[in-house]
Amino acid sequence: MDRKIEMERRVFVMKLVSAATLLGSSGLALAETKPMVNEADPQAVNLNYKADAAGVKHAKFKPGQACSNCVLFQGKPTDAAGGCGIFPGKQVASKGWCAAYAKKA
Ligand code: SF4
Repeated sequence: MDRKIEMERRVFVMKLVSAATLLGSSGLALAETKPMVNEADPQAVNLNYKADAAGVKHAKFKPGQACSNCVLFQGKPTDAAGGCGIFPGKQVASKGWCAAYAKKA
């Protein structure tokens, strides 16, 4: 009888470990897929953020400028999107642009 209880306890512990592992990995997956900045978000409107720099009409904008070559872009230049220090917890399009643009050295 003690042996059966020990086996049940082990199975229970293994299930707990599996559940914790699943929760941990799903949390990581969620963290990696941050939502995109919406052009209509108040901060995006204030900074004139556009998901496609081709549509930007702003006095500061110069052709060739895009999130992918901005110092605040946290993705790789080849990524379609990445984080930005201006919009924590969200992603910007690598083809995007906003008035806080600063050329990457
Ligand atoms: S600060 Fe740079 S990376 Fe962030 S949205 Fe503006 S242009 Fe894009």
